[in-house]
Amino acid sequence: MLDLSRKMAETRQLSPLLTYAMQEALDLVNAERGFLVLLQDDGSLDFRVKFDREEGPLDSADDQISTSILNEVVRTGEPTLIRDALSNHRFASSDSVIQLRLRSVMAAPLASRGEIIGAIYVENRSAAGIFNEDDLMLLTIFANQAAVSIANAALNDELEARVAARTAELEQAMRQLEQSWIEAVEANRLRTELFGNVAHDLRAPLTIILSALDMLGEGLWGELNDDQLEWINKARDATRHAIALTADMFDLTRVDMGQLELERQPVELSPFLAKVYKVGKALPWPEAVSFQADFPPDLPQVSLDETRIRQVILNLLTNALKFTREGSVTLYAHPLEDEDGVLIGVVDTGVGIPEDKTERIFERFYQLNNELVRSRKGAGLGLAICRDLVEMHGGRIWVESYEGEGANFKFVLPLG
Ligand code: ADP
Repeated sequence: MLDLSRKMAETRQLSPLLTYAMQEALDLVNAERGFLVLLQDDGSLDFRVKFDREEGPLDSADDQISTSILNEVVRTGEPTLIRDALSNHRFASSDSVIQLRLRSVMAAPLASRGEIIGAIYVENRSAAGIFNEDDLMLLTIFANQAAVSIANAALNDELEARVAARTAELEQAMRQLEQSWIEAVEANRLRTELFGNVAHDLRAPLTIILSALDMLGEGLWGELNDDQLEWINKARDATRHAIALTADMFDLTRVDMGQLELERQPVELSPFLAKVYKVGKALPWPEAVSFQADFPPDLPQVSLDETRIRQVILNLLTNALKFTREGSVTLYAHPLEDEDGVLIGVVDTGVGIPEDKTERIFERFYQLNNELVRSRKGAGLGLAICRDLVEMHGGRIWVESYEGEGANFKFVLPLG
């Protein structure tokens, strides 16, 4: 009995445990065949194992006798012993007793934690009086042991089923998520493409408008009066801004679609910066702002895309111009101390940027909501492009600034 108990406790899955318990019960009391039933929530009996010692597992349905005896054992919780069904007043007239020639029958309840969870039934057809009180006690003790293991295994099965169901749900959710992700990526790609095409197609007509306005403004088609000239100039400014915006949008979509490729070549940095400084000098600096350069003539050679790095620096200079009313704006550069890169920067004495916004201004479409920004034109794309371009060079860009104390935009380009 101890061995059986141990073996049953070790079997964690319900089905093999039930078969094992049934077989052992048959051996234990020397019965021919037996049924093991579990009580369902609705009170019905689930015939889990039907086993014959000679034939093995049985397909045949349970018969009327075993069902009525099992029902009674489950209902009363009392073990039952019938020495000879044929001469038992309750069952002798039953068809199945006569047909099956049932003689010796025994059944014991499966009880766990005070609850009946099923029963074990064994029988012998060949002879009457095969089972006695000792056998019934043995079967009852065995049933008590088995019930504990069966209850545990049932719990284990239920937990496993729950885990399996939950895992299936999660897998399904995961598949849905993947599908939505693929769809979102595709939708985003289409939007980016559309964005890029619109920006591209706007550029040509805007350029024609600007040339026409330029020619008008320069009096090519006759002198203009002051009012006319003022409106032509406003229109030129607005058109230039629209052209710059479409260029930014076009660049960003090309970065997003992986279509913007750098044309890098070794560039002597000092002469290159001198040229950019010269272009920067042509910007409309106010009287009260001095534009200066501060870099040595012997900066190292750096591999870069001249057009794109010029674009970055001019973007920073245009911003400095926008946000500085008086003082100075300086384009500066120096090799890094550990000599594996060069630092290039634009420092101004303008309105500055609140400390907690110095990261966010590099995000797309992010603009600070201050009075000066509102009065200046911009779409919040310039710094996002600068960051993309610098990072494509393997460098990084950031700003050091305090509100009201100017801003110092810096980026590092790696050497080699
Ligand atoms: P925008 O085209 O609007 O200027 P940017 O990406 O170039 O877009 O800049 C984003 C925001 O960063 C600006 O709206 C402004 O608030 C802030 N900013 C950029 N440069 C400066 C600067 N030199 N001084 C103060 N604020 C700045």
